[in-house]
Amino acid sequence: MKRILVTGGAGFIGSHLCEKLVQDGNDVICLDNFFTGNKDNIRHLIGDNKFELVRHDIIKEYYAEVDQIYNLACPASPVHYQYNPIKTVKTSVMGVINMLGLAKRCKAKILQASTSEVYGDPKIHPQIEAYWGNVNPIGIRSCYDEGKRCAETLMMDYYRQNNVDIRIARIFNTYGPRMAVNDGRVVSNFIIQALKNEPLTVYGDGSQTRSFCYISDLIEALIKFMNNDKNFIGPLNLGNPEEHSILQFAKIIIKLTNSNSEIIFKELPSDDPVQREPDISAAKKIIDWAPSVELEYGLKKTIEYFKSILS
Ligand code: NAD
Ligand code: UDP
Repeated sequence: MKRILVTGGAGFIGSHLCEKLVQDGNDVICLDNFFTGNKDNIRHLIGDNKFELVRHDIIKEYYAEVDQIYNLACPASPVHYQYNPIKTVKTSVMGVINMLGLAKRCKAKILQASTSEVYGDPKIHPQIEAYWGNVNPIGIRSCYDEGKRCAETLMMDYYRQNNVDIRIARIFNTYGPRMAVNDGRVVSNFIIQALKNEPLTVYGDGSQTRSFCYISDLIEALIKFMNNDKNFIGPLNLGNPEEHSILQFAKIIIKLTNSNSEIIFKELPSDDPVQREPDISAAKKIIDWAPSVELEYGLKKTIEYFKSILS
């Protein structure tokens, strides 16, 4: 049994992680400022004596005695991280400094939820960890992309300067139940639009690609990476390498929801990456992990979730 802090624990990924860590017998502190997180995501854990909920913003210092920290706190969808971009940067820079300070003081292991966005609009495909990326430093996505890149820098500097035991996970698009209804991401938007028989809004011509990983696969990878016996610190790509164009993806959602929706095309937001697919050979080799959930199965589960929320 370990004492584990999960920041952003009331969010989509964080709530699934808290649930699994509690199930595995750990003592979990779920810390969240509820900007995009929701108490409903973790309501079933409240009352369990292995689970503690703390309302706190990681931009402020936080003190606790813990063995491990999963730092997930940060809005993740373009709509949410662009809502208050300065705050997004503060969360990825000041927040990460606070969590690294905590890890240093407690001698705790810390895993940072980094992102495929550190590769920006990638010029190599699929993306390997050794690629340094192609990021616009002054665009509308920069608060998130550059914030996460700086967070990786901070992780490496605390590792080199202070021997903090770090893990850098570069997470690619993940989906599943508990995604926020209003987050504007492609999975939630398309499913909700299809369930309401409204037009599916494809941005641009829909030729841009993404690769979608189901939440249970990602949770397994995060825990394996944190506890890997080789003390491998990363960065490590975590995602599903099956790549789809967004137009293809819209058609899959229409089929799986038996929807009458049509597809309409809208303006492509600036700096929207053209292609994205993780190379996960390192994850396969080092933590012995590969995703196993089929897209159709994962989407059906996600559609069921949104149906229940909408009704
Ligand atoms: P989410 O928005 O559902 O969860 C983020 C959580 O962090 C929310 O509960 C939010 O309230 C909380 N939070 C935000 N700022 C905070 C702050 N300053 N202090 C305390 N809590 C704060 O998003 P998610 O999809 O669950 O993403 C979790 C993490 O994984 C994020 O760091 C994100 O960048 C990273 N990630 C997610 C994906 C994905 O596809 N979902 C891909 C790459 C990386
Ligand atoms: N997208 C779309 N319609 C929507 C929402 C998103 O065509 O209603 C596109 C978006 O332009 C991007 C892709 O889907 O190319 C994935 O977008 P999302 O916001 O889910 O994630 P990210 O761009 O951060 O990978």
